[in-house]
Amino acid sequence: MPAELIAKYDTRIPRYTSYPTAPHFHAGVTPATFREWLGAMPQAQELSLYLHVPYCEVICWFCGCHTRGANSYGPVADYLETLRREVRLVARALGETPRPVRHLHFGGGSPSILTGDDFARLMDDLRSLFRFRDDAEIAIELDPRTTRPDLVAAMAQAGVTRASFGVQDLTPEVQKAIHRIQPFGVVERAIGAVRAVGIDRINVDLMYGLPHQTVANVRDTVSKILTLSPDRLAVFGYAHVPWMRKHQNLIPESALPGAAERWEQAQTAREMLTDGGYVEIGFDHYAHPDDDLAVALAKGTLNRNFQGYTADTATALVGMGASGISELPQGYAVNDGDIKAYGEAIAAGEFATRRGIAVSVADKARRAIIERLMCDLRVDVAATAALHGVDISDLRADYPRLADMVEDGLLVLEGDVVAVTEAGRPFVRSACAAFDRYLVEGELRHSRAV
Ligand code: SF4
Repeated sequence: MPAELIAKYDTRIPRYTSYPTAPHFHAGVTPATFREWLGAMPQAQELSLYLHVPYCEVICWFCGCHTRGANSYGPVADYLETLRREVRLVARALGETPRPVRHLHFGGGSPSILTGDDFARLMDDLRSLFRFRDDAEIAIELDPRTTRPDLVAAMAQAGVTRASFGVQDLTPEVQKAIHRIQPFGVVERAIGAVRAVGIDRINVDLMYGLPHQTVANVRDTVSKILTLSPDRLAVFGYAHVPWMRKHQNLIPESALPGAAERWEQAQTAREMLTDGGYVEIGFDHYAHPDDDLAVALAKGTLNRNFQGYTADTATALVGMGASGISELPQGYAVNDGDIKAYGEAIAAGEFATRRGIAVSVADKARRAIIERLMCDLRVDVAATAALHGVDISDLRADYPRLADMVEDGLLVLEGDVVAVTEAGRPFVRSACAAFDRYLVEGELRHSRAV
């Protein structure tokens, strides 16, 4: 890829895990709005649940998540009680009959900070208040350094089906620069421990663009991780946004690879993983051909939500915990990210909703276009407009914004069908941005597209 093209498209663009994107959420969505939205959902509505655990034992300097360091277990135990209260509040607002659940995800932070007993209590609550489908996926994010036997045993007992491990890079110098010392043996043992109890769907997260990271480091990391045969891998570009995440100031900008080096690193991982038999999913995920994500891609049912690419087809996601985000048919609702304020709201028997946005029919049509592009790299704009009953001319007015990508061979526009080429795959977010009505040029401070 020519350096001019990398430089041209290396701009800050949303990751489109929602549409409208989070910077456009506002305080007009309140706890009362959220309660009303939950109450209005039909009884048969299948749910996806997300529970956020905003604590880690040590903070990694590259981290972009809503989390904080916990020096002792006390605050974590208190938080867990609040989370259990919120689970009950949500179940009550949804009505008497337990709702069907298709997908449950524990994210953070590091849910691996929980004790086995606390995790078991939380899972007992969830299973008594919701009706889990027999084939429900129950997934948990784990830090390989703090995945302890009591939690692993409780996960197996509770029916966890998938574990996702943060690895990032295995090079000692890189690990030192991101304040996350985690040799390969630690990762190997943690993955072995969850497989030993029957949890055999394994995800691994890797990163490129980290301080002092080189193409050779990426090659070494990927080749070691391939020996563990994970079912899915995500390869994220490090987003250096110290104005949003203060601890990133501990990473000197001078140690960060430039755009061309980042590109080489991403392409190295991409080539190694596709050569290794993984199916490329969107622009940053890879899955074994028989993993749900690859199967969903083949069937055209791959979706995107706040956790990234997903095979989950539930159309309502309820996010709980501090900073938890819900995506309901009516719109998005976000909990207070401040653990104290979140806890006070829940203790008072109220939801902790602080921001969000109601989605209009026009938003839903644009969201569908962006989601298909992100998942399938192709969308029939006319068919999507017809499906949502919106005026196609409004969407066609955005086509001129695709002209540069067409000229650069990254995209083909035939009639009303937009198709991203293989060369354009890493830049798919730029195509999505053309349909983003809320995007105001010059105002963006999102992660880089490459
Ligand atoms: S363990 Fe994960 S969530 Fe916690 S600080 Fe490190 S990267 Fe962030």
